[in-house]
Amino acid sequence: MLKFDTVETLNAYLQELKNDGCKIGFIPTMGALHQGHLSLINRAKEDKVKTVCSVFVNPIQFNNSNDLKNYPRTLDADVDLLESVGCDALFFPSVDEIYPNKVNTFYNFGYLETTMEGAHRKGHFNGMAVVVKRLFDIVKPDFAYFGEKDYQQLTIVKMMVKMLNLPIRIVGCPIIREADGLAMSSRNVHLSAQEKTDAVLISQTLMEAKEMIKTKSMHEVKEWAINNLKSNPAIELEYFEIADGTYLKPVIDKMDGESIRAFIALKIGKTRLIDTMELIGAKA
Ligand code: AMP
Repeated sequence: MLKFDTVETLNAYLQELKNDGCKIGFIPTMGALHQGHLSLINRAKEDKVKTVCSVFVNPIQFNNSNDLKNYPRTLDADVDLLESVGCDALFFPSVDEIYPNKVNTFYNFGYLETTMEGAHRKGHFNGMAVVVKRLFDIVKPDFAYFGEKDYQQLTIVKMMVKMLNLPIRIVGCPIIREADGLAMSSRNVHLSAQEKTDAVLISQTLMEAKEMIKTKSMHEVKEWAINNLKSNPAIELEYFEIADGTYLKPVIDKMDGESIRAFIALKIGKTRLIDTMELIGAKA
């Protein structure tokens, strides 16, 4: 795997690839890689593209300075993992390389940036969109791969690509989970053994909600899920929401043919976790 920490050296490599007629598949990450990230690289390889992964902890998408300071950074292990799946190139720029000038861009994603994560992490999605756009400008990928783990982020990136008319295909990839159901996340390293056990309730609640929705109303499922999560005093629930999979608007009644998902954000100890699951699939 080739490694680049400057835009200039990465661009020279990308230019060679383009001259050879290669398509580029881009996987942006914040590092501390795990099997969830690697699944995105593997998905990209199915498209027969050259895979470029970035590792950049983006300071402007953190609304909590402790969260930024404590975010796990494991570059050597990341390199080993990326090499193990045959990633072609890694881009790991410094903050100055990504932001040579003061950031002064404000996107308007409307409702999508005010609901759920947007309500609980002010400025997060603007910071995320700024870095994704900057990385897209640098890498100029044909395809970019994002996990459904961050479903609202995926939805906003799709909207940004449409709004700005970028010639990039955004590919959403399924959530990779531990054997006990916990969605893999870089932040899971902060969980103690007991907290990891407590965290299993998140995916269990989502899976039970998916069963329950077959026979119960949305309201009943939502009420049950909230009570179920709150039944563990170690859990500080931020939200449980049932929303459509396209616009992320809360769903009160079952709608025929639409994808309907449940979304959870909560804290266990100091660690904030999010998860989501499709409860009802869209009809073709
Ligand atoms: P992050 O490093 O947390 O910013 O994540 C980088 C990319 O990996 C994002 O598109 C995430 O949605 C995706 N990702 C993170 N965790 C998982 C997971 N467990 N399964 C699938 N994709 C994931």
